[in-house]
Amino acid sequence: MLINLALSDIALACGGELIGLDHTASAVVTDTRKIVSGCVFVALKGDRFDGHDYVAQAVREGAVGVVSEQALDVPAYVKVPNTKLAYGAIARLIRGAFKGPVVCITGSNGKTTVKDWLAQSLVGRSVLKTRANLNNQIGLPQTLLELEEEHDVAVIEAGTSFSGEIALLAKIAVPDVVILTNANGSHFEGLGSLEGIAKEKGELISGSSPEAAIILNSDDDYFDYWCGLAAGRTIYSFGFTAAASLYASDVSLSAEFSEATFHYHGEVLPVFIAGAGLHQIANGMAVVLAMLVIGIDFKFAVGALATPVLVSGRLERLKTKNGALLINDCYNASPTSVEAAIDVLAMQSVDETWLILGALGELGDQQYEIHRGLGLYAKNKGISCLICVGPIAAVAGIAFRSKGGKAIFCNTHDEAATVVRQLDKKHAILVKGSRSAKMENVIEALNN
Ligand code: ATP
Ligand code: MG
Repeated sequence: MLINLALSDIALACGGELIGLDHTASAVVTDTRKIVSGCVFVALKGDRFDGHDYVAQAVREGAVGVVSEQALDVPAYVKVPNTKLAYGAIARLIRGAFKGPVVCITGSNGKTTVKDWLAQSLVGRSVLKTRANLNNQIGLPQTLLELEEEHDVAVIEAGTSFSGEIALLAKIAVPDVVILTNANGSHFEGLGSLEGIAKEKGELISGSSPEAAIILNSDDDYFDYWCGLAAGRTIYSFGFTAAASLYASDVSLSAEFSEATFHYHGEVLPVFIAGAGLHQIANGMAVVLAMLVIGIDFKFAVGALATPVLVSGRLERLKTKNGALLINDCYNASPTSVEAAIDVLAMQSVDETWLILGALGELGDQQYEIHRGLGLYAKNKGISCLICVGPIAAVAGIAFRSKGGKAIFCNTHDEAATVVRQLDKKHAILVKGSRSAKMENVIEALNN
């Protein structure tokens, strides 16, 4: 942790009351399996656990203080109304002690991709980045608490699953650089509408440092709205028209990589991007702008895009035992990301393209129409066969079949794996679905 924290400072930051003797804590822990001597234990409440049940163990194993919503019989604790909010407030204290830039990424799609790509591109700098997808009210503070003296830059992902979450995260991270990739219907539930999504994402701009650099997608329908929130902060835009500060022209897409020309303030450079799809060029532009803001030369920044972002479960190219190309994109899905992945599948030079689709979650009452639309989209892109796993994905299959496509309906992951097991190198198979659809089970079944 960047600085030690007195329990009294924690109490002040959380609007809590210190009961007992003041101590200085050298770490903040929420999981008793990670207790270290001299730490403060924050008793978080989850759906399946309550940290308050572990307070005695935490103190026994070396915690010098506890942050709790309940009165405790321990030598020192900070009583707060809400431990989750307190956890964020403690992370805010650590963030306040950090001198390097905090880059925060939000948007409906591409957050993790941009985060990992930017972090790996900042060669020669010590980067703290969000691990995996820990982008919520617990994950974001947890990441910031890992800041150390050695770090030069923090690259942090901010996600949302309820209205107001991004505003909370912005208050904790106070970004120096905001990247907002896009807004589309990935999380209707809880946010109501596309406008609700755009507003929610925009909270990261409103909550950023007053001198922050704001990186925005000029092709997004909400670009003007977000510019309006910047209130004097510097805006850097990226897109596919010359209106953007950084724009791409001469785009050429292939199955595994993309090429384009990038233009930035009169400088023009050819770019090779290790990633397929137009969306990957957009993500790449966001990465380059962040690197420019951090002080990296345009030529070096653009060069970094040639190195692929290796993330398991995202357009990961594998082979089945029978030699078919297996594109594992089952890490998560939103309507736009399914379309982007279908575009990539359609580009493969094989005889047949197969899509195994699981349900997309969190779509609220748009669920039916969106799945239907995806079935039609796949048919329009010439996908050879659509395998649907479960009754919700089946809506896509029915639409696909209504236009003359071959659709197969399965109840389980194993059934879907059985259908494609015999396909060979003349086939490409894309596996995709929301996190909740657990489509990685298909990949696993194919490996066994
Ligand atoms: P999550 O909300 O699950 O954290 P995320 O915003 O972090 O998602 P990624 O994990 O980077 O997004 O990518 C998720 C999916 O979206 C991938 O399957 C990828 O193909 C697709 N994708 C990535 N970037 C974009 C983009 N700019 N536009 C549309 N789709 C994208
Ligand atoms: Mg993510």
